[in-house]
Amino acid sequence: MAEQGQNSLQLQAYAKVNLTLDVGRLRSDGYHEISSVMQTIGLADTLTFTAVPAGITVTCTPPGEAPDGPPNLAYQALQSLADRLPGGIDLRIAKRIPVAAGLGGGSSDAAAALRGANALYGLRLTEIDLASLAARLGSDVAFFVRGGTALAQGRGEVVTVLPTLRPQWLVLVKPPFAVSTAEIYARFQPGQTRTWTAGFLAAVARGDRERMLACMGNDLEPVTAAAFPQVTALKTRLEQLGAERTLISGSGPTVFGVWPGEEEARAAARQLDGGSEQVFVCRMTRPGE
Ligand code: ATP
Repeated sequence: MAEQGQNSLQLQAYAKVNLTLDVGRLRSDGYHEISSVMQTIGLADTLTFTAVPAGITVTCTPPGEAPDGPPNLAYQALQSLADRLPGGIDLRIAKRIPVAAGLGGGSSDAAAALRGANALYGLRLTEIDLASLAARLGSDVAFFVRGGTALAQGRGEVVTVLPTLRPQWLVLVKPPFAVSTAEIYARFQPGQTRTWTAGFLAAVARGDRERMLACMGNDLEPVTAAAFPQVTALKTRLEQLGAERTLISGSGPTVFGVWPGEEEARAAARQLDGGSEQVFVCRMTRPGE
């Protein structure tokens, strides 16, 4: 966290990838039961908080990238703390995480908004307090309160901290269209379920990197790939460029590949320059980075 003075502070809100995503039964509340290893990565929005006499304002740049004001999940996060705030907050969000891309940008902004308000006004809320407020805002928000590596279960809000993984280098490719998570889940057929997560966790416990890579998988990938064939083409392209494993994140459409080191990842990303996709090179991040 970069303190900017008594009345203002700045926080990074990191994106995530799902290293595994098992989709289970449809629950009576309309959500599917999931089990997912989630990991924060070094692609982030920057949030600048300023204490103001009263009221909550949230503005995003570049304009139009994500909603300003009440529809913004970060606004809803600040609003959920309104009773405890001794003054108002002006929040500016510099968006870098592509929107509706499977990278959890809105949820990460919301978790950072809770942390930022807590720090700005010295509210003394613990990580547990923040996680319980976060879980009410959306399925992924609780994960982002701490970040790093974690297992998300239930509809995503039941978060178990996992030992931090050895950071891997990733190339992310976001095709020029958005995907609605709700639509992808609606197309998901029971019977398409695999159990990636248990195998992944066992491989991590044994320190078996090759097996860990083999166990990276996402039950939503075939559903998104059926709707958007570009996803399969992008996976093939990343494999040709040397990715050890490729996967969509969340419900997509972002595809990411794992590389053994930074140089190899950057070299692969250069080959992708000039296309219609957004390309990012980043590594996994640890909690508190
Ligand atoms: P999901 O959480 O459904 O998997 P995602 O992580 O792919 O989605 P987000 O970037 O969080 O996608 O955006 C999902 C929707 O949330 C967008 O359509 C956007 O209008 C809305 N939204 C609300 N607040 C934000 C925010 N701070 N940043 C980005 N999108 C936001």
